[in-house]
Amino acid sequence: MSELKVLISRKQIADRVIEMGAEISRDFSGQSIMFVGVLKGAAIFLSDLARNVQLDSTFDFIGVSSYGNRPSPDHELNVGWDSTGEVKLTKDVDQSMKDRNIVLVEDILDTGLTLTYLKKLFLSHEPKAFRIATLLDKPSRRKLPIHADYVGFSIPDEFVVGYGLDHAERYRNLPDICVVPREN
Ligand code: 5GP
Repeated sequence: MSELKVLISRKQIADRVIEMGAEISRDFSGQSIMFVGVLKGAAIFLSDLARNVQLDSTFDFIGVSSYGNRPSPDHELNVGWDSTGEVKLTKDVDQSMKDRNIVLVEDILDTGLTLTYLKKLFLSHEPKAFRIATLLDKPSRRKLPIHADYVGFSIPDEFVVGYGLDHAERYRNLPDICVVPREN
């Protein structure tokens, strides 16, 4: 693996997560929130974000994977995910979402396939409100017309790791978000 380059520092992440927490606290002032994180990438972001929201809150987690095979680590890095793939649920939430204020927490919005699937699923549970918070957004890669309500950083089409994001399960524990250089 070639050298990783820091794209977003831990300080920039911490500052932005405080701002996002304040936005959510304002938008849901006086109400309670159910945060639902998408495993595993959003776990670190959810734990920081939720601690910056000054409201009564609960956590839950959901697991998804693409039908067929997740691309090999090399394919994922150099080409990205297949936009034609379908998403399936590998772990459902434990609590009811009906009449709750749901904030779905994702690490990165890329083609939009995962969040489009999850949004439809969540809305079918009739929440009181549904919002999406994503730490990163790669708008240039979008294949489906979905947007997040709270976006940490818009980034170019680079493959990134750290702060929960992996490459072949590694690097999730890096405190900064780093670019993995593509091989060509
Ligand atoms: P989607 O294409 O459905 O919007 O995103 C699917 C998933 O691809 C994300 O949740 C994330 O797990 C993964 N992904 C997309 N871009 C990157 C990236 O730059 N780095 C890493 N580690 N994962 C990514």
